[in-house]
Amino acid sequence: MKILIVGGVAGGATAAARLRRLDENAEIIMFERGGYISFANCGLPYYIGDEIKDKGALTLQTPGSFNARFRVDVRINQEVVSIDREMKSVVVKNLQTGEEYKESYDKLILSPGAEPVMPGIAVKSDRVLTLRNIPDTYKIKNYIETKGPRSAVIVGGGYIGIEMAENLKRAGLEVTIVEMLDQVIAPLDYDMACDVHRHIIQNGVKLMLSETVTNVKEDDSGLTVMLGGGEIRADLLIMAVGVRPESGIAKNAGLKVNERGGIVVDEYMRTSDEDIFAVGDAVEIVDFVTGQKNMIPLAGPANKQGRIAADNICGRKSRFKGTQGSAILKVFDMTVATTGINEKTAKKLGLVYDKSFTYSASHASYYPGAVNMSVKVLFEQESGRILGAQIVGADGVDKRCDVIATAIRAGLSARDLTELELCYAPPYSSAKDPVNMAGFVIENLLEGRLKQFHWHDVDSLPRDGSVILLDVRTKMEYENGHIDGFIDIPLDALREHLDELDHNKKVYITCQIGLRGYVASRILSQRGFDVFNLSGGYRLYNSVLGKIAQPEITGINPETQLPESKESTEETNMQSIKIDACGLQCPGPIVRLSAAIREAEVGDIIEISTTDPAFASDIEGYCRRTGNVFLGMEYEKGVNTAKIRKSDTDDFQNKCGAALGSGKNFIVFSGDLDKAIASFIMANAAAALGREVSMFFTFWGLNILRKPEKVKIKKDFMSAMFSAMMPRGSKKLKLSKMNMGGMGAKMIRSIMKEKNVDSLEDLINLAKQSGVELVACSMSMDVMGIKLEELIDGVKIGGAAAMLAHAEESDMSLFI
Ligand code: FAD
Repeated sequence: MKILIVGGVAGGATAAARLRRLDENAEIIMFERGGYISFANCGLPYYIGDEIKDKGALTLQTPGSFNARFRVDVRINQEVVSIDREMKSVVVKNLQTGEEYKESYDKLILSPGAEPVMPGIAVKSDRVLTLRNIPDTYKIKNYIETKGPRSAVIVGGGYIGIEMAENLKRAGLEVTIVEMLDQVIAPLDYDMACDVHRHIIQNGVKLMLSETVTNVKEDDSGLTVMLGGGEIRADLLIMAVGVRPESGIAKNAGLKVNERGGIVVDEYMRTSDEDIFAVGDAVEIVDFVTGQKNMIPLAGPANKQGRIAADNICGRKSRFKGTQGSAILKVFDMTVATTGINEKTAKKLGLVYDKSFTYSASHASYYPGAVNMSVKVLFEQESGRILGAQIVGADGVDKRCDVIATAIRAGLSARDLTELELCYAPPYSSAKDPVNMAGFVIENLLEGRLKQFHWHDVDSLPRDGSVILLDVRTKMEYENGHIDGFIDIPLDALREHLDELDHNKKVYITCQIGLRGYVASRILSQRGFDVFNLSGGYRLYNSVLGKIAQPEITGINPETQLPESKESTEETNMQSIKIDACGLQCPGPIVRLSAAIREAEVGDIIEISTTDPAFASDIEGYCRRTGNVFLGMEYEKGVNTAKIRKSDTDDFQNKCGAALGSGKNFIVFSGDLDKAIASFIMANAAAALGREVSMFFTFWGLNILRKPEKVKIKKDFMSAMFSAMMPRGSKKLKLSKMNMGGMGAKMIRSIMKEKNVDSLEDLINLAKQSGVELVACSMSMDVMGIKLEELIDGVKIGGAAAMLAHAEESDMSLFI
């Protein structure tokens, strides 16, 4: 049997080797248009970034070595230009001599791959390049080494674009990725891509999302890359916007191709001609999860298909059962892995699905080096069939995604994930592996023990008191950032506050990652509340909707605005204390840090490593509040390491008296309109000066915070009477003097308007926007029968202790 193979890399070389292993007598000829065979395409970006240093490592096989091992006639620099199906022959062009010749076949395997799409927007230039093969790689590397470009633009934020961004950055270039979509790595959903965006930016790559390159011009000094909104200059441009199948010869020979040019094959990898097989990036595949036709260019499927085509040619019935898109990517020191379909696809196909978000440590959190990973699993609502998974983290992401990929292949239900017995010892995993954890959550969802809502539902939740929005994290976590409208009752105090919650209202709970929220939801639902837990918690919400913060290594204490002193630990003989808080969830790291600071001497440097991303945003605020000095933070492999110097709090207070203890504390006892106006004017002025302002409303003052509309709440008779008699909200307040049956209040309001003084309502809103803390006295509320739902949004409940704590931190307390 004489077998010809077109293409000598992933699919082609695999097919050739398998053919020989199955048939020692077959005549096998492999044509490769380029000068290299069986090279490591997937390793090419890493050679450019000098991660792979040895050129030879990319080209494991030569025509000679391949022939020696497999007795395959390898013909490089020879392009198959046409196929004559009638004659069962191909025309081959020798690209070095220009000579053309025919070669006959009994069976033909096509593995021509896919070429990078080169949109017509770019000029032809040495500076505008793509990456597919060894010559492309050398061209880029050579350009960097000889021309010393300083900046590069990468068009496309897919796998190759991001690998190139990392490696060009390693090579010392300023790199910008321009991506047309609002996210990178299309197989991820937007919510999982957000952490990746943050990481790319943190690693110093400029990321321009939802931006299109419209034109590229070249002049003597470089390229001008025109964008939808503006332009950027660059020395080098890499096009990485995707690939298209190289199916020209198949199409010209009349083989069936799909509308995207993918060669149509059956499960035996046979084309519409029974003597011609096709494999790899050039073929249309069946999506293993959806059963739909698709094109998924990946090395794994190409290799498997090459083997399957060879099997079938040699009489061994082998079937390709589909591609499920398992893929993994290194983004600097982050790992991103996907398998199966994402939410965008599930929606497009109208599947009835649900999703879980979990956040788990790569191994036992008490063993050094644990880092967290975000795990999103999609599953069919009815059956629990796993549809796909996306995992973003560092260590251990690959094996968890592989386990789920295997579960998908084996047709396991998401429930089965709870039972998988995976290897465990503290350095490698946890007794409840991240895969088990995802299974537990899904099982709870499928069995109705847990109802959830998602980050995209949060903003549309009513803020009018008709539902309870509850944050069960600690006060410190809450204060470091929370979702607007959510009140804080820490999980451990929840059982004591149950009578403050109205059974008739739905309860929407959040915590940091969804775990404490689940515990709270179990406490409440077993007491008859209708409860929903925020999937992925505040962490995910904030990752998707929060600001992308650039890492800041600052020499200035943000609170005092004083430069940090430069003395090192050696110079001052101060101790350096290292804390490993990796794997601990918030507030664990801050608690560990507080304990260490208590133990430390003034001037000691505490270096704390943590994998909880919330810590990065908490730490500066923590140092501000405690007067310790934040020396900066470094990020590596999913671990944030922050340095804090313990301050002499007394000295700190002396030096920065204006800043520390400069808060203003208002105790608003009166419910008179004039006094309320005066209170808010002073509070806003203090806030404008950058002071921390807290207003504690007690007794009649509570009326200022009441909503104008009647809120339906069950109350006992006395409470109902009391609240009916009191003014409902700021518009109903009376003047302390000359009220004249309400005439006086109206007159004051109109004079204020005339004189361009903000109304009380505007002042209240301004105060909220300026971060003034509005606290309603829990005791007075109780006495006066006022419920939180009756108060305007943004009001917290607090007791005398909270008020006094703030008073102690303030240099002024005013009782109005
Ligand atoms: P190829 O491996 O591209 O081989 C096709 C060969 O056919 C080419 O060398 C071409 O010159 C030759 N050819 C085409 N037409 C003719 C003709 N008429 N005559 C003779 N020869 C011809 N996939 C992953 O799964 N993981 C990764 O990390 C990954 N990283 C990648 C990084 C880069 C930079 C690139 C370019 C690809 C990467 N891929 C990765 C994709 C993976 O390399 C492909 O899916 C795989 O190589 C496809 O195999 P193939 O045989 O279909 O095509």
